Amino acid sequence: MAFSTFNPFDLSGKVAIVTGSNTGLGAGMALALAQAGCDIVGVCRADPGETPARVEAAGRRFVEVRADLSSVAAVDDILGAAVEACGRLDILVNNAGIIRRDDALTFGEDDWDAVMDVNLKSVFFLAQAAARRFVAQGGGGKIINIASMLSFQGGIRVASYTASKSGVLGLTRLLANEWAAHGVNVNAIAPGYMATANTAALRDDAQRNGEILSRIPAGRWGAPDDLAGPVVFLASAASDYVHGHTLAVDGGWLAR
Ligand code: NAP
Repeated sequence: MAFSTFNPFDLSGKVAIVTGSNTGLGAGMALALAQAGCDIVGVCRADPGETPARVEAAGRRFVEVRADLSSVAAVDDILGAAVEACGRLDILVNNAGIIRRDDALTFGEDDWDAVMDVNLKSVFFLAQAAARRFVAQGGGGKIINIASMLSFQGGIRVASYTASKSGVLGLTRLLANEWAAHGVNVNAIAPGYMATANTAALRDDAQRNGEILSRIPAGRWGAPDDLAGPVVFLASAASDYVHGHTLAVDGGWLAR
């Protein structure tokens, strides 16, 4: 192939699982991957939202899988549904996540377990299932975990969220160490402050909103579209020698 026609970001013919594809960052990343050529297996616990129509409008297939990632019981069904519908798997985006807020002095076990189960335990077991498929298929694969600024910083009143997202960063490195030799790239994206349902409470609080905005060098909240380029990069041949990295997409927040 002539160099001038080679596009290292082309995902034509690839199949990607995106968890939490119905809304927010997951919906944005599912659309970006579809626009780069991927068929999308969208994992949602309820209605898939507008994502199927947007993926199909981009000329790609959307396969809907209903699953609740608060339990790892769903993992085999998700992989099975993807492979049955599409015949293969190339990319996993571990995006689904939740947050619970309380003072550390009163933080409860339910709020600890609920967040760790979705944000860390299911992330690991979905990655394990995807990597087993990649190794069995041959030809490698791409795993992209969604981390956070609280993979790098402590935060406040979000004990289980910080623990889970710090865990995502460490797990991303560990899995990269074990699976790079199989041609499996494991990386993460750490979004900064993005305008989604996850951050609605912060944006509704005028004081917190002002504090956050004044600290973001780019001067604005991020949007789901801001993850389009990064997720396509980490899902594509353009990042074949990138392993174990957590890429901050934060408008410069961590540079302060
Ligand atoms: P969001 O709008 O609240 O979306 C979260 C997604 O996760 C939704 O699709 C949600 O499904 C899904 N989900 C939650 N619990 C689930 C479960 N038990 N089983 C299956 N799906 C489940 O939040 P977002 O901002 O797009 O967040 C996406 C990811 O980015 C999360 O991992 C979050 O921690 C991370 N992140 C967000 C920000 C930010 O500023 N927004 C910053 C850093 C990291 P439902 O719609 O059914 O609830």
